[in-house]
Amino acid sequence: MRAIARSLGRYACLLALPCALLFAQTTELNATARLLQEVIAIDTSNPPGREGALAEMLATKLRPLGFQIDIIATPEAGKAHLIARLKGNGTKRPILLAAHADVVGVEREKWTMDPFAGTVKDGYLYGRGAIDFKGGVAVFTRAVMMLAENKVPLDRDVILLVEADEEGGKYNTTWLAQDHWDKIDCEFSLNEGGWILKNDEGKVDYVSISTADKSSVSLLITARGTSTHSSMPLEDNAIFQLSKAMAKLADYQTKPFLIPSTRKFFATLAKTSAPPMSQHYYNIAASQDPAEIAAADVAIRKHSPLFHALIRNTIAPVFLNAGFRGNVIPGHATATVNFRIIPGTDPEELRAEIAKVVAGEGIEVGYAGFVNLTQEEMEERRRRTVSVQPSGEETELYQSLSTRAKETYPEAEVTPYLFNAGTDSIAWRARGVPVYGIYPYPITDTDLMRMHGNDERVPVESLESGTRMIYGVLMDVAASK
Ligand SMILES: [Zn+2]
Repeated sequence: MRAIARSLGRYACLLALPCALLFAQTTELNATARLLQEVIAIDTSNPPGREGALAEMLATKLRPLGFQIDIIATPEAGKAHLIARLKGNGTKRPILLAAHADVVGVEREKWTMDPFAGTVKDGYLYGRGAIDFKGGVAVFTRAVMMLAENKVPLDRDVILLVEADEEGGKYNTTWLAQDHWDKIDCEFSLNEGGWILKNDEGKVDYVSISTADKSSVSLLITARGTSTHSSMPLEDNAIFQLSKAMAKLADYQTKPFLIPSTRKFFATLAKTSAPPMSQHYYNIAASQDPAEIAAADVAIRKHSPLFHALIRNTIAPVFLNAGFRGNVIPGHATATVNFRIIPGTDPEELRAEIAKVVAGEGIEVGYAGFVNLTQEEMEERRRRTVSVQPSGEETELYQSLSTRAKETYPEAEVTPYLFNAGTDSIAWRARGVPVYGIYPYPITDTDLMRMHGNDERVPVESLESGTRMIYGVLMDVAASK
C-alpha cells in the first residue's frame, strides 16, 4: 500500500491536474529545498538502505558539472557510496564533505503525510531524513555544485561523500576507509553533528560545531547460580542475583566529566538561557564549589536528558536474557548495558568501575558483543577508543565555520560541542583527520524532537541560509586567493 501511494506521488506529473499544483509549489522553493525533495523521494530506509539509487541520482547532477564520480558498490545489492570529486590545483590537501544517505525507517501510520513525498507546508519541508541527514545531503551537494556552476578556481580538491550504512549495517565509512582510503583522504572534513538552534521567536541562539563524538561501549553483566528444578529453589538463583546487581546500577550515577569543548558549550548556554538554568549552566562549566556543581548536575538532569548526557558517561541497560523452560531455574542470567563514553575514557577503567558497583555473589562483568574478537583485537579496539582525540579549533576549517556562522546568524553565539552519540566521523578521527559536525540549518527544539520520529521536518528558509553558510566556508578554505 505504502509503495503504491508513494509512486503515485512521484509520478503525479504524469497526470494533468496535480502537475500544475506540484509545479506551483516547487517554483516557490530554493534550489536546496527542491533538491531535498528529490533526495527524500528515494526511500533509503535502513535496513536495507539501498543507497545506490540516490548515489546514481546525484551523480547525474554532478557529472555534467565536471565532478569525477566513483560509485563504490558494497557486497550488498543496491548498497553503494557516492564519491564526487571537484578537482583543484593541488596546492592544498582536499576537504571532504560527508553526509549519510540512509535514514531510519518510519512508523507510517503515525505520520500525517507521506514520509517520502517532500511535502511543503507552512514554511516547512517534511520527510524522513529532513534533518537527519538528507537535509545535509542536499545542503552539502548544493554548496559543492555552486562552486562548479560559478567556476571557482580551487586550491584543493573538494570531495563530496554520500555514504551508506550510517544508521546501521556493516558497509559504513569504516568499511569504505579500509580499501578506498585514497579516495576519501583529506586535510579535514565536515559531517553531521552540532546544531544551529533557533528559539520560538525565530532567533538563532547558538551554533554548536561538534569537534568530538561520544563512543559506544557495551558491557555484559552475568549472574551465575545453580541450575535446578524450579520446585526446589536455592539461594543462588541467577535471576535474583542479576536483579540485585541491576538495582544497584539503577541507583548509580557516573561523575560529571567535562572536556574543554563541553565547558565552552555550557558557558555559551549560560549566556543564551534565562535564570535559573543560566546559573546552573555557568556553575557546571566554571564553578569550583562541589555543592554548586552537584546542584547544577541535578537541575540539568531534570531540565534536559541531552545536556545531562553531555557531562557524563551514560548508562543504559538494553537487553535482559535468562531462562529457557518454565520448570527450570536457569544457571545464568545476563544483562547488556550500553554506555556512551566521553573521549578520554578508558573502557577498561569503566568496566572496573561498573564491576565494583554491581559486585555480588556470582556476578561477572565483561564486554558485550566482542565474543568473536581475540584478546589482541580487543586490546586494539580499546587503544583506538582511548586514542581518538577531539578535533582542534585552530584549523582553517573550524575558524571559517565559526566566522561564517557568525556572519550568517549575527545574533548567535558559536561554540564547539561534544556530540552525544557516535557518527561515522570515526573513520577519519581514528586516522588523526579533524572532523567538524553540523546540521547545517537552523531548527527549533520542537523540530529536533522529530528527528528519527514522526513528521520530521526542516524549515525551507533554513536550507537556504545553511547552504549560503557552507558555500562561504568552501570559498574560504578551498577557493584560490
Ligand atoms: Zn545522522
